[in-house]
Amino acid sequence: MTVYCLGSINIDNFYRLQALPKAGETLAATGFSRGLGGKGINQSIAALRAGAEVVHIGAIGRDDAWIEGELTRHGVAMGAVSRVEVATGHAIVAIDDAGENQIIIHSGANNAQSSEMIRFTLSGAKAGDILLLQNETSHQVEAAKLAHAAGMQVFYSAAPFALEPLRAVLPYVTHLLLNEGEGAELVAATGVALEQQPVQAVIMTRGAQGADWIEQGKAPQHTPPIKVQPVDTTGAGDCFAGSLAAALDTGADPAAAMRYAAAAAALQVTRAGTADAMPSRADVKNFMD
Ligand code: ADP
Repeated sequence: MTVYCLGSINIDNFYRLQALPKAGETLAATGFSRGLGGKGINQSIAALRAGAEVVHIGAIGRDDAWIEGELTRHGVAMGAVSRVEVATGHAIVAIDDAGENQIIIHSGANNAQSSEMIRFTLSGAKAGDILLLQNETSHQVEAAKLAHAAGMQVFYSAAPFALEPLRAVLPYVTHLLLNEGEGAELVAATGVALEQQPVQAVIMTRGAQGADWIEQGKAPQHTPPIKVQPVDTTGAGDCFAGSLAAALDTGADPAAAMRYAAAAAALQVTRAGTADAMPSRADVKNFMD
């Protein structure tokens, strides 16, 4: 089986400064680094590291050698990544000596996905394959509709949370993934409890408290956390989502897949970084023993 992921690909540019710039001010950075980012690609890399066959559908700017190099280094196949006439999605993150930050995000190519690429790629999918989506690209509803019609499972990670995109995609979603904050926003905005959402399962991640698998008409199944000393929790939810999809896709039952995802995410938060911190299947298995 295959995990298809229509998802964002970003370049995160980090600038260190003594103090954040004020309006009209020009400041020299004291340091610079660049990293691969985007919830979509983080989930794809997590699923790849977990051993799934993964097809990432995305878009980047034409002639962007740095991002092509990073994707290749992480083992992402480039066959369903479109090169478009818009800059690769990126963030400019300014961090001062007190740890305060300012962030500018430009969605760029992430909002210029190719309909043809989505149609062509998903035409190769089989019933039961997984389509993984997040709220950082255009064309989510189109992809979800196609996948639903083909009998695929549609996993939607509702982040960054926004009600309208979620409402539009929900009729085609089988598995809805939320963290606690997103879950609370959904319930507050719709007045519909998580166990009443019109999907096969809601998966709620709860940080250091573990995660719940919630199906209509059944008691929620709790997966306890694995106790760790976190170093960097950025990307924990993406690690969980990619690992869960991979485990289910490679034949695990929901309880086993949730345990695998909780272990992968616990291991990921003990490592600095995001995509680079996604653990391999072998590391997760060792960690679980
Ligand atoms: P997000 O990154 O989307 O906010 P969460 O914070 O809920 O998501 O984290 C996702 C999952 O990562 C959790 O369900 C848990 O399995 C794991 N995780 C996150 N933080 C910790 C932690 N401090 N200790 C152990 N596991 C953690």
